[in-house]
Amino acid sequence: MLSLCQQQKIDFHVNNDQHNLILGGNLQREIRTILGEDFPKYKKQLRLNNIMFLEQLSSPNGKFLSTWKTIGRKTFTAGLARTPKWFKELQRHVLEDHNTRRLQQNYFTDSPSHFKGTEITFPNPQNSAKEFVSIWNPLLFRSSLGRIRMKNAENNTCVIEHWIVDEIASITASPVIKLCTGCDIHHPDFSTIETKATVHNLYCANLYHLSNATVISNSRPVLDKR
Ligand SMILES: [Zn+2]
Repeated sequence: MLSLCQQQKIDFHVNNDQHNLILGGNLQREIRTILGEDFPKYKKQLRLNNIMFLEQLSSPNGKFLSTWKTIGRKTFTAGLARTPKWFKELQRHVLEDHNTRRLQQNYFTDSPSHFKGTEITFPNPQNSAKEFVSIWNPLLFRSSLGRIRMKNAENNTCVIEHWIVDEIASITASPVIKLCTGCDIHHPDFSTIETKATVHNLYCANLYHLSNATVISNSRPVLDKR
């Protein structure tokens, strides 16, 4: 349609109020501007991944550039596995510090009110999947991590086994969590849970509202190389 209009030299005017505004974009932080004369080389690839603005690639607080691994999981990207060349080039332009991935100050952006294409998923009350979750913990007055061990769809509750960050094994890009062996949030009523086949002992567990839990996606067991 647009190319037809161009061929026929047909122009049309749109009332200023009806222009499509692309939210969150700023010309200075447009990938096109940042990559400059190299942009045409990568135009097709960027379009394929629906990437136009630096905002889409930075951390929720707008001060750090996400890793390609994180960006590849966003809902808008086509899920490229390997770090594309344009991204490596972009990093050279915008990063202040390559270790922390902090952006140069002129590339900082405001915090948006959405999650930049990162999907927030909730545990399904109807199945018995033992998801790793993050949950608001009213006893600690902050969120804590854990693994669902039992769901009760009727009253929307679940028993969550407490897991904690392993500060020795963790690195920034891939945090490692381990089973809590017991702390103040444990409730003795949940020391054991019974399944059809067996009785499980839980060292640190409590009952929570299932709807307060969000699933930690892409979690996988760490292979023990020792
Ligand atoms: Zn604990």
